[in-house]
Amino acid sequence: MEIRIEGVSKSYVSEGKTVRALDNIDLTIPANEIFTLLGPSGCGKTTLLRCIVGLETPDEGEISIGGDVVWSKKKGIAVPPEKRGLGMVFQTYAIWPHMSVFDNVAYPLQIRGMRGDLIRERVARTLHFVQLEGVEGRSATRLSGGQQQRVALARALVAEPKVILFDEPLSNLDAKLREETRKELRTFLGELKITAVYVTHDRVEALALSDSIAVMRAGKIVEIGSPQKIYFDADHRFVADFIGRANLIDSRVRSQEDGVTTVDSGLGVIACQHRDLPVAGPATLCIRPEFIRITSGEINAGINTLNGRIESLAFVGEVYEAEIRVGTELLLARIDPDVKVKEGDQVGFSIAPAHCLLVSA
Ligand code: ATP
Repeated sequence: MEIRIEGVSKSYVSEGKTVRALDNIDLTIPANEIFTLLGPSGCGKTTLLRCIVGLETPDEGEISIGGDVVWSKKKGIAVPPEKRGLGMVFQTYAIWPHMSVFDNVAYPLQIRGMRGDLIRERVARTLHFVQLEGVEGRSATRLSGGQQQRVALARALVAEPKVILFDEPLSNLDAKLREETRKELRTFLGELKITAVYVTHDRVEALALSDSIAVMRAGKIVEIGSPQKIYFDADHRFVADFIGRANLIDSRVRSQEDGVTTVDSGLGVIACQHRDLPVAGPATLCIRPEFIRITSGEINAGINTLNGRIESLAFVGEVYEAEIRVGTELLLARIDPDVKVKEGDQVGFSIAPAHCLLVSA
């Protein structure tokens, strides 16, 4: 089901100061997508999620789910959370430790007054789906963190919600388990064909899990796009910087010819992917470290070929990370271990124009 958010704002007053947690948000979350709200701490992700669920009341605006208005100030509509047909999974698993896995998952159906045999059938089906059959009778706390999170997922799914919402559900798991659970979640959600709204500040999680990502900053949505669009082709400097490591260099547009935009920068003249920007105007050049191609020794010909000196080199597993000094700029590059370089070396390198992105400040 599609979720529409129109003109939603929410402020809090804390210690005499007003914080605008949501600033006139307009957003459409398409049906059956995994849609992620990503942004730094305090940007308003959780507040937006809580407004959709109904745990928080906006100051203004309108929210509809599947075409039905669930909250509107103007129309005086405020559907309570339990009537919005949503499931929710939190950061803390919020499962009841004194109850068995079965009872945890059955609870949402019991409070709806469903018959016992129907409850048993639904719970069994849901536990099978999240691959937890066989542990129904176990106390929920005698499960691993990943299994506990699957109990929480089963409990959110058992009542067959129209939409499921996640607030940083994996952040209490260790790195390896987090990656495994993330993959499982992607598979589960893909099979369910359900609208999922996912809140995280973890960019890798957002990239790996989402169909679309909305990047938020200070109560506003800065940019929305597929993970690939946001990573490779962001429009905004903030987004390019937040989603992955990037060399961001202040530049000025030099020319626009044959679908190539060139800029003057601290690296010299650089040919970039085309962007419709005025000649002589400012632009930020964004180069991801993995697109800097080192050749051994200095080079002196070709588009975007440069020379620099390796100022530092660190092995980070898989690759080396190098800082390359070019004039006043210090570029971060990821270097394949096969390329033999050491600190202090003069190296030549190139960057394909397609990987020189211009973003707005
Ligand atoms: P995090 O990733 O840290 O959870 P977030 O992006 O989810 O952050 P929110 O929790 O939505 O951010 O908070 C947005 C802003 O509103 C923050 O400045 C926060 O301090 C403030 N805020 C949130 N809830 C309240 C509250 N109940 N009372 C006062 N201020 C609040």
